[in-house]
Amino acid sequence: MHIQITGARENNLKDVSLRVPKHAITVFTGVSGSGKSSLVFDTIAAEAQRQLGETFSTFIRNLLPGQGQPDVDAIENISAAIVIDQKPLRGSSRSTVGTATEIYSLLRLLFSRAGKPYVGYSNAFSFNDPAGMCPECDGLGEAVRLDLDKFLDRSRSLNDGALLHPQFAVNGWYWKTYAASGLFDLDKPLADYSEQEWQVLLHGTDAKVALAWQGGEINSAYEGLVEKFTRLFIKKDAGEMSERNRAVFQRFVTTATCELCDGGRLTRAALECEVGGYTIVQLAAMEATDLAVALEELSGDSVAPVLDSLRDRVRRLIGIGLGYLSLDRPTGTLSGGEAQRVKMVRHLNSSLTDMIYVLDEPSVGLHPRDVQRLNDLLFQLRDKGNTVLVVEHDPDVIAVADHVVDMGPHAGARGGEVVFEGSVAELCTAPTLTGTHMRQQLPLKTDPRTRTGTITVEDFSSHNISGLTVDVPTGVLTVVTGVAGSGKSTLVNDGFLAVCPDAITIDQTAVATSIRSTPATYTGMMDEIRKLFARTNKVSASLFSFNSAGACPNCQGLGVVYTDLAFLEGLKSTCEECQGRRFTPEVLGNTVRGASIADVLAMTTAEALEFFTEAKIVRVLRALDDVGLDYLTLGQPLSTLSGGECQRIKLATRSHREGATYVMDEPTTGLHMSDVAHLLGVLDRLVDAGGTVVVIEHNLDVIARADWVIDLGPEAGAHGGRVVFEGVPGELLEATGSHTADAMRRSVG
Ligand code: ADP
Ligand code: ADP
Ligand code: ZN
Ligand code: ZN
Repeated sequence: MHIQITGARENNLKDVSLRVPKHAITVFTGVSGSGKSSLVFDTIAAEAQRQLGETFSTFIRNLLPGQGQPDVDAIENISAAIVIDQKPLRGSSRSTVGTATEIYSLLRLLFSRAGKPYVGYSNAFSFNDPAGMCPECDGLGEAVRLDLDKFLDRSRSLNDGALLHPQFAVNGWYWKTYAASGLFDLDKPLADYSEQEWQVLLHGTDAKVALAWQGGEINSAYEGLVEKFTRLFIKKDAGEMSERNRAVFQRFVTTATCELCDGGRLTRAALECEVGGYTIVQLAAMEATDLAVALEELSGDSVAPVLDSLRDRVRRLIGIGLGYLSLDRPTGTLSGGEAQRVKMVRHLNSSLTDMIYVLDEPSVGLHPRDVQRLNDLLFQLRDKGNTVLVVEHDPDVIAVADHVVDMGPHAGARGGEVVFEGSVAELCTAPTLTGTHMRQQLPLKTDPRTRTGTITVEDFSSHNISGLTVDVPTGVLTVVTGVAGSGKSTLVNDGFLAVCPDAITIDQTAVATSIRSTPATYTGMMDEIRKLFARTNKVSASLFSFNSAGACPNCQGLGVVYTDLAFLEGLKSTCEECQGRRFTPEVLGNTVRGASIADVLAMTTAEALEFFTEAKIVRVLRALDDVGLDYLTLGQPLSTLSGGECQRIKLATRSHREGATYVMDEPTTGLHMSDVAHLLGVLDRLVDAGGTVVVIEHNLDVIARADWVIDLGPEAGAHGGRVVFEGVPGELLEATGSHTADAMRRSVG
């Protein structure tokens, strides 16, 4: 049985036709920009979604523009698709690893059946249900309080602006309720207030205050600062505040553990209830590996089936390499890779079969040791009768594919074809870029650079690290390694950055500042391009700006028009006025060497490098090319970039200060094996210009080319957090007790 795709043409796909085996694992490979996502996400998954949409009523379907239909002649034999991506799980602090995996609901069931003293139904143990939530903190476990040290400047008087929150500014309405109260000396610095005056200022009196209002006077109840702030801001649902007000709000509050439930989130009764000597809070706070042991000790006929499913699910969480997480961990604090693996656990729990599961680079954040576990999960998904489609660069994942589809030969317009289809063994002899790199051996750095100095992280403690002292060399490339959860991010982001505060962090967060942002605007290249068009055509440069009079009036220079649908995600369609060209016909009449501004924005970096000779523009283009972004078009909306691409565009534009320190988390994310050498070239250049580079990486090629390796472990969570190796790559090969060393030895062969 196969999924049969005929004539796919999304983005750069060149009339691609292929068959993908059902109930098998197919891995899609190829350089970035070759068309993997266009085929897997924009064609196969999109069509599955659309066919599901066909089951909606005609009323709803009529609201959906034809845009939802992928550009493909036919797809046969498709079933419903579930995309397991790396987008963060809903960030609400009410969502935890336990709730997201549904393991916590089983725990609740267990407590409702076997808990002593008996308390009632399972929702009595839910911090998201009024029956179970702590009444003081509404089940959040922590309470937000006004921070007086941030809110008040005690050296100032009320007249001098002692109240620092902008809505309490001098002469504002709130300020007047205090100034007009007659209760305070307005020129006395707060530091000189008597105990009595403090009480009144902060907590109020019963007095009423007369306030001048619209020519008359009104009586307003006087309210202390703490009560007023709490009522106005803290009691208000943060979701109702505007982005800006919320940011201001955050500056004036601190979050502290709730005093009533001591962070346990539940009612007293629920907190005191025990099963086998454990409370539900204690079980939820354990690392999954310890929880598994505790669950083994429990027994009871009436709860045997609940215990069985609980053990099963906790084992899956451990099996996927997340054994170091506790159920009470808020999902908002998980990395993208961890979030994706939590989603996988949820789907493994489900009994659906004959689904198509689509995964985007699931190896992100995984040590080679953990990749084996990931592969086991892919097998399980398949063996339940599902079709598994994976976009991946990691040779260890590619190795377990039942079928490989290699896209290429290159990126953008020079890609978009299937260059190889077949088994892994056949791929290894194929003449494609992926095939070539599957065969290649790892070159070990034999001449590491000498450090110019040392930055010491001293007696550092956070999360699973306690009292650690470690030296990070300067003037070299240092790679921090270790299995997932061993403490790499904790050491680098909390420890190293604290002692090296002016380090430049190049992370994977989004770069788009507005929906008009493109690689051209982000890199500053657009200014130079506009000047060039203005010079050549003797017109104003501002004409070529997306938000000027020269922009298409129908789409305001976006090239697309957004349709808002109340109950669905907004839909976009190409602007009918300018056909996506963003500018008025008059502006498009201006050309440079035969190309209009729209033509230039449609060029890829590689094409633009052949087109431009202007030094300032060429320099930016080369930097983009260096980090493997040669396939991006200058006008592609930045909002469509993946995390790895965001990180690399930052790397291309932010690396100009000599002697700077750079910190990066997994810069190889989204990079094909053939591009890793490119990236290493960029890192080497930063170091050669006097820089210090510290990267967290799992990629063995990068580890092999480091000047210095710091390996954390030996395991994750409580069993990690120590340095198990520090030294040059050559010595790492000899090290014992290090999973990284084991992986290096296997890979060098
Ligand atoms: P891969 O998944 O192999 O990295 P993609 O399928 O994402 O490749 O991209 C294939 C080509 O299509 C690239 O040239 C890319 O720039 C282009 N492309 C991808 N998404 C969009 C988009 N939303 N708008 C315009 N071009 C796109
Ligand atoms: P790595 O980067 O090696 O994957 P981390 O530094 O992310 O490891 O995690 C080390 C340990 O600290 C793990 O046990 C992890 O669960 C814990 N941890 C990380 N971030 C947080 C957080 N925000 N809250 C609580 N625990 C955390
Ligand atoms: Zn509480
Ligand atoms: Zn338009």
